[in-house]
Amino acid sequence: MIGIIFGPPGSGKGTQAARIEDAFRLKHLSTGDILRAEVARGTPVGKEVGRIMAAGDLVPDELIVDIVRGRLPEAEAGEGVLLDGFPRTVGQAQALDNMLSDEGHKVDFVVALDVPEAELVDRLLHRAEVEGREDDTRQAIEERMHEYHKLTEAVLDHYRRKGVPVQLVSGVGSPDQVFGRIRRAVGISSA
Ligand code: AMP
Repeated sequence: MIGIIFGPPGSGKGTQAARIEDAFRLKHLSTGDILRAEVARGTPVGKEVGRIMAAGDLVPDELIVDIVRGRLPEAEAGEGVLLDGFPRTVGQAQALDNMLSDEGHKVDFVVALDVPEAELVDRLLHRAEVEGREDDTRQAIEERMHEYHKLTEAVLDHYRRKGVPVQLVSGVGSPDQVFGRIRRAVGISSA
């Protein structure tokens, strides 16, 4: 089972991914978490991407695709994988599809969280106070929203065209309410 949790910055992907991971026994693979760990460890990749991330821009497709290619086989060894923050461009989606089809796999579902933009900005500014993430400044938030509309939204059409079920779920409300909607939309009973 390969699922994608999709949505704009601040839509609650990370929070919901943790719940989906537990309930559906999928391995959570967050490219943002992987990159933040590289930056924190000061690895060559971390040095390359630190400034790009702080500005709210997307890191190059080749770099992120290589990272996912390196991690996917281990993640796929279990019952399934939940991708969070990837793919973020149609080029990444095509690269993912090719990686999966080499193994005889495909994307089984996409859950797309939907939250009004004003609420997203409020949430991210609040997160800045709580977590101190470097890219939760007003300017970086604007850039991330811009990248989302310019490059990432098109990924949903890519999967719709391929016949992959894309479930739009309202991300407004408590984490439990949102998770209840995801559970109903994806239609998998918990393990
Ligand atoms: P996230 O935690 O998913 O919001 O990601 C934080 C930042 O990491 C993004 O703003 C990008 O700079 C970078 N990033 C994470 N995933 C990707 C991806 N799939 N493609 C390009 N950049 C990414």
